[in-house]
Amino acid sequence: MKFSKLAEYYEKLEATSKRLELVDILSKLFKESDTSEIGKICYLIQGRVAPFFEPIELGMAESMVAQAVGRAYGHSKDEVIKHYRSKGNMGLTAQQLVLKSHLRGVIRKNRDHFEGGLSVSAVFDELLKIAKFSGAGTVEQKVSTLANLLKKLDPVSVKHVVNIPLGTLRLGIGDPTVMDALSLAKTGGKKLRPVIEDAYNKTSDLGFVAEVFFKKGQKGLSEIKLMVGKPVRPALAERMPNAEEVVKRMGDKFAAEPKFDGFRVQVHKNGDKVEIFSRNLEDMTHSFPDLAEGVLGEVKAKTAIMEGEAIAYNPETEEFLPFQETTKRRRKYKIAETAKALPLVMFAFDILYLNGKDITEETEIVRRKLLEKVVPKGNATIRIAEQRIISTAREISEFFNEAVSDGLEGLMIKKLDSPYKAGGRGFHWIKFKRASSGDLADTVDCVLLGVYAGKGKRTVFGVGGLLVGVYDEKNDSFVTICRLGTGLTDEEFKQVHEIAQKLKVSHQPARVNSKIEPSYWVEPKVVLEVYADEITKSPIHTAGEADGVGFALRFPRLVKFRESEKRPEDSTTVSEIKKLYELQFKRK
Ligand code: AMP
Repeated sequence: MKFSKLAEYYEKLEATSKRLELVDILSKLFKESDTSEIGKICYLIQGRVAPFFEPIELGMAESMVAQAVGRAYGHSKDEVIKHYRSKGNMGLTAQQLVLKSHLRGVIRKNRDHFEGGLSVSAVFDELLKIAKFSGAGTVEQKVSTLANLLKKLDPVSVKHVVNIPLGTLRLGIGDPTVMDALSLAKTGGKKLRPVIEDAYNKTSDLGFVAEVFFKKGQKGLSEIKLMVGKPVRPALAERMPNAEEVVKRMGDKFAAEPKFDGFRVQVHKNGDKVEIFSRNLEDMTHSFPDLAEGVLGEVKAKTAIMEGEAIAYNPETEEFLPFQETTKRRRKYKIAETAKALPLVMFAFDILYLNGKDITEETEIVRRKLLEKVVPKGNATIRIAEQRIISTAREISEFFNEAVSDGLEGLMIKKLDSPYKAGGRGFHWIKFKRASSGDLADTVDCVLLGVYAGKGKRTVFGVGGLLVGVYDEKNDSFVTICRLGTGLTDEEFKQVHEIAQKLKVSHQPARVNSKIEPSYWVEPKVVLEVYADEITKSPIHTAGEADGVGFALRFPRLVKFRESEKRPEDSTTVSEIKKLYELQFKRK
C-alpha cells in the first residue's frame, strides 16, 4: 500500500471519536492492506514502529523535528517553531510549509507524488531507522533522515508522519478497537475477536497477531504459543465480599498465598539472557540488575517465563519494606546506587513457560510443582511465595491475619484446577485485601483525565483537584468517576503537576467521555490507586452511565501512583465498579 493511502485513512480516523466508526474505518483499511504490511500498519496507527513493550522509541523533541521540517522545506528551525507556536500542531505546520514550498519550487512535486509516493513499508523502515540511531551524532542522523523522508512525501502524509516521532499522533485507537477491526475485516463481524484476543494475551504484540491472522487465518492464531521475549498479558484477580463466599466458590480445597505489596514482575529467561517486564509489560531489565543476576544464578531452567512480586526486603531483620520504599526501585536513574541501598527479592508465584514449553494450560497444582523445582528453597533473591492448601473460612482468616501482621497486603486465593488465564480476570484468583475503613472491599485504580487549577495554598503547585475516571471496556474509552482532592501530600501535588504538564492537551481526548470539564485535559496515561468510602450513583459522572446516572466514588483519597505499573486500560473497569457497588450491599 502507498503511504499516501494510509494517510487518507489517518484523516478519516482523526475526524471521528465514535468507536463504531473507528472500527469500521480501520476494518476497511485492513481489507485494503497487503498481508505483508498489516503488522506494520497496526504499529503505525498507534504511532509506533514496534510493539509497545519493545523499548524502541522514536523520541524526537520538538526542536529536533522542527529542524528536520525546516531543512526539508528551506526554513530555519526558529521559523518553523514560530509557525508551530501559532498553529499549536507540528503536523499542520509541516503540511502548510510543504504546500508553500511546492509553490515556491523549493521541492518539486515529482513523479513519485503523482504515483502516490513511498510505500507504507518504505516509510516504516525509515522511521525504524530513526528510532535505532544511537551514540555520537544521533541528533544529526535523526534530523537528516527525517528531513529526507519528509521531502519524499505528499502534504497529507507529512502532516501525520511528523506527529509520529513527536509522540503526538493521537487517533484514539486502543488495542480492543484494533482487534474488533481485524475481526470485522476478515469475517464481517466480531466473531473472531475472542480468538484474536487470546493470541494477543499470549504475545502482547498486535502487529505480530495481525500478520499471523492475515497469513494463516484462525488456525494460525489458535496455534500461537507463549514466546520467551514477548511478555504475556498478566492474569488478574477477582474480589469477593467475604471468606465464606470464597469457600463456596473455590470448592473443597484451594491454595492461599500472601499478597505481597511490591510490584509485579514477569521474568523471561533464555539461556543466559534475562528480560524483566513490569505489570504493564514495559521492559524494565536495566532497572533491576540484582533481579536479573538472581535469575541467572538461582533459577534452575534453561528457558522460563515466571511471575512474581518484587519487594524491597531487609535480609538482616527479615522485614518487608513499605511500598513507598520498594517503589523507589522503579526509577530510571542512579540504578546501581539504589539497587545497593534497597535490594529486591522476588517472590515467584507462577510459572507459565518452561524449557521450551508453554505450560499455561496446566493446572495450578502442576505449575506450582514445576515452580518449586525451578525455584529451590534457600535462594537468596528469587524465592518462592509461600503457599498453603486450605479449605475453610477460618483458615483463610488466620492466614490473612498472619500476612497482615507481617506487613503484607492480604491474601491471594487460587483455584487448584485452574489454568493460567493470560490477560483475564476470572475466579481463578481472588484477592483479599486489608480494608482500612468504609464499605468498599478494595481500592479502585483510576486514570487521570484532567486537572482543576489550584486555589489558595495549592496554587503553588498549580493543581487544586484531579478529574479521574475508569476504563469503559465496552466502548474502549475512559469515563469519569470522581474529583480527587485529598490524600495527596504536597510532594504528590507537585508530582501530579509535573506529570500533568507533560500530558496536557488542548481538547478533550478522543477516548474520554465526560459531562464535566476540568481546567485542562490530559492524555489518559497515568493510573492512580484511589480509596473511597463507598460507590454511589451520580448524575455528574459517566462511569456506567444509564439514563443519565453514573457511578461515583464518595470521599475518594489517593493511595498511590501506579505510574508505569499499570496501563490505563488496566485500570478498574466499569463492570468491576458495578460489581464493587453490588458487593457493598452484601458486606453489610
Ligand atoms: P491488585 O493489583 O490489587 O488487583 O492485585 C493483584 C496483584 O497482586 C497482582 O498483579 C500482583 O502484582 C500482586 N500479588 C502479590 N502477591 C501475589 C501472589 N501471591 N499471587 C499473585 N499476585 C500477587
